[in-house]
Amino acid sequence: MDIKKVKAAIRDVPDFPKPGIIFKDITPVLSDPKLFKAVIDLFVKRHKGKRISKIAAIDARGFLFGGAMAERLGVGLVPIRKKGKLPYKTYEETYDLEYGTATISIHQDAFKKGERVVLIDDLLATGGTAAAAAKLIEKAGGKVVEIDFLVELGFLKGRGKLKGYKLFAPIKY
Ligand code: AMP
Repeated sequence: MDIKKVKAAIRDVPDFPKPGIIFKDITPVLSDPKLFKAVIDLFVKRHKGKRISKIAAIDARGFLFGGAMAERLGVGLVPIRKKGKLPYKTYEETYDLEYGTATISIHQDAFKKGERVVLIDDLLATGGTAAAAAKLIEKAGGKVVEIDFLVELGFLKGRGKLKGYKLFAPIKY
């Protein structure tokens, strides 16, 4: 399956969640089993046989890809969630948004020391969320081997916040 077909299925929703934002809606990719499989195949192929211990997935759309990847790779899944959602002891990171701040968290016992972790989210925008998530993985003892996104909004220069990490994003705008 050509990744161009996946790109063609991603829907632009203007002015969501607020005026001026063009939201990249991946739900048409999820609802088509061939497209969804093509995406998971692509991510899984990168990490098969690479001694990955865990997939860490970002709340909430990262969970959709991360769960499928972890199951296919036969590795553990670690959710990184918005503050107040994880039930056990957590580490937290706060980062800047366009207006205000956001806080995400991870369970303190998510990893054994030095475990090799792939971080996954649906989309790289300004990079603040992924940078905070990578810090959380490191606080909890994991090593970030790669950060994967389905989509990268290159014009927002999110890579600048993720220097030092290996990144993969097959669809770019
Ligand atoms: P950022 O921290 O700016 O890189 O934002 C990344 C997070 O916000 C990801 O979890 C995305 O799902 C979401 N996001 C940001 N901008 C968009 C957009 N234009 N379309 C869809 N999701 C977005």
